[in-house]
Amino acid sequence: MSFYSVIEKYRGFRFQDYFENVTEEMFLRSLRHAEEERCSEIDLLNFLSPQGDRHLEEMAVLSQKLTRRYFGRTVSLYRPIYLANYCSNGCVYCGFSSLNRIKRRQLTFEEIEEEAAEIAKSQVRHILMLTGEAPGKSDFTYLKTAAKILKKYFDSVSIEVYPLSLEQYSELKEIGVDGLTVYQETYDEAIYDKLHLYGPKKDYRFRLDTPERGAKAGLRVIGIGALFGLGDPMSDGFFSGMHAAYLLHHYPDTEVALSIPRIKKAPETFPITDIVSDSDFVKLLVSFRLFLPRVALNVSTRESADFRDRIVELGITKMSGGSKTDVGGYSGDDPSDEQFEISDERSVEEVAAMLKTKGLTPVYKDWWQLV
Ligand code: SF4
Repeated sequence: MSFYSVIEKYRGFRFQDYFENVTEEMFLRSLRHAEEERCSEIDLLNFLSPQGDRHLEEMAVLSQKLTRRYFGRTVSLYRPIYLANYCSNGCVYCGFSSLNRIKRRQLTFEEIEEEAAEIAKSQVRHILMLTGEAPGKSDFTYLKTAAKILKKYFDSVSIEVYPLSLEQYSELKEIGVDGLTVYQETYDEAIYDKLHLYGPKKDYRFRLDTPERGAKAGLRVIGIGALFGLGDPMSDGFFSGMHAAYLLHHYPDTEVALSIPRIKKAPETFPITDIVSDSDFVKLLVSFRLFLPRVALNVSTRESADFRDRIVELGITKMSGGSKTDVGGYSGDDPSDEQFEISDERSVEEVAAMLKTKGLTPVYKDWWQLV
């Protein structure tokens, strides 16, 4: 049993035909199910249909209510640290694929220590460690040593690196890593195959099962999602929600976090014709909340300050702040090119101040390991 069984179940399902045929009556029934917290996968489909656009306001109000019920008025803050930007994959939508000539770097252990000390000057005690996907460069020993250094400065260390084996996740857990983030990019297997030309990432199934390997290893938080805009956003939204539901069902001790990164910029060879709109982003966000009231919902600094401020009260429970997406960006004088352009450049203090003006409490630390 794996989440792939859900992908197979929906093979050949005509999402657009279904969405277009959702009636107001079907949608309102789904909304009632959300109020009673007993949504099915059909309800998720109905929320993502054009009826969801017509009833976005009602969905947003309910999403806010459900979020307050389970998370109170809190938003957890985290910061990313980019350790390397080497990559051995060929994703056609990314300027960082292995054949592109960009400024690449990998931090030495001494530099990781310096970056960590700099980042730790803010109160945030959650860090997300990213390396790019180059196992030959950032090998497992490098990952373990880096994680041990970060543990000296942060209570919670999550990783966003190339997919690992169950045994490797278990080893990382032993040294204090407690979270894993891995995005499927698109759940559409045919599109996935076309967009990933070479490298380990070409293996759709191995990537799809990665969150489950992390959960099996006992990692506390598993972050998933698609890169919205690569495939059809609403069917990718459906599978993202279903993937989260699958993990919550099979690994009830695990916190599952969903993100909605949307593709905004890509190499000239991959023109983006259809950027996911703000209202589609909101529809995805509130649909996830209505379908899964207890799932964590994350928004990164890919989104602008103005947009993040507008959506934070609708269901967001995690956000990054004071982020740098270049390797060595916090303390070094020779940073690499940025992984993605930051749209919200505010410091942690500024993000926290924004939350407070909305009556929300910024949470700098909500986990520590008992020894
Ligand atoms: S999306 Fe990630 S794995 Fe793919 S080329 Fe870019 S950095 Fe590498």
